[in-house]
Amino acid sequence: MADHEKRTAIVTGGGRGIGAAIAERLAKDGNRVGVIDLRTSDTEATVDRIIKAGGEAVGVGADVADADAVATAVQRIADDLGKPTILINNAGILRDNLLFKMTDDDWDAVIGVHLRGAFLMSRAVQSFQVEARWGRIVSLSSTSALGNRGQANYAAAKAGIQGFTKTLAIELGRYNVTANAIAPGFIATDMLRETAERIGMSFEDFMTAAAKDIPVGRWGQPEDIAAAASFFVSDEASFVSGQVLYVAGGPKA
Ligand code: NAP
Repeated sequence: MADHEKRTAIVTGGGRGIGAAIAERLAKDGNRVGVIDLRTSDTEATVDRIIKAGGEAVGVGADVADADAVATAVQRIADDLGKPTILINNAGILRDNLLFKMTDDDWDAVIGVHLRGAFLMSRAVQSFQVEARWGRIVSLSSTSALGNRGQANYAAAKAGIQGFTKTLAIELGRYNVTANAIAPGFIATDMLRETAERIGMSFEDFMTAAAKDIPVGRWGQPEDIAAAASFFVSDEASFVSGQVLYVAGGPKA
């Protein structure tokens, strides 16, 4: 890809797990990548791998739930890499608990990072997308959007992401900006390691048990999600908008 044709993508929560895989995949696809994570130091490993592979990336520390931090981070990436037209809303946290034990903080923190974070980031990036008359927004939902014990906060946030995505698709379509969501099933990352720990299982046993109910007979890898993100942000996907793609090794609805 010629240098002037390169686009700038932003991946939130890109320091590890699914976000890191998406950042590396989008860089391999020829995009410059701004990697946002809570602290700049959290982004270094991802940025180093992209640069070593011949790509261009910059890491910025920001809490996606903080409006000022988001505005500063997006402007910094625009200044360093060029105006961003691709956004991946991936940053996420878990604060699982049964409803009667779920605290106000558990609720607010999860809604804050996933929903407020996706809102603030999308609002900041859409001005560049509308100006460019081209853009892609991909947000991470989850199979938990369909309901999951111990995750009233997370399920509500991930279902909210789906409504948010469809609305962005309707509002921004006229500017050639598409918005889609990916809803992963079981993907081997630290997030699920945390879940296994909470319920007192080894990560291996937890994932092996999960794989028994997955039609393709295995759990997912971050690269499985990166492949879906790569499709959604491609030029070829310009007529695909407002969709939720379950990437879970089998059907979900
Ligand atoms: P992960 O390994 O826990 O990584 C999440 C990343 O988000 C971390 O780097 C984390 O930073 C960052 N982050 C958290 N809060 C943030 C904030 N306020 N501002 C900026 N960055 C923040 O999780 P993952 O498994 O890769 O999940 C990525 C996304 O996929 C999430 O939205 C998750 O809900 C979704 N998802 C995952 C699965 C799965 O099976 N793993 C399934 C369905 C959906 P720190 O390192 O500083 O904490």
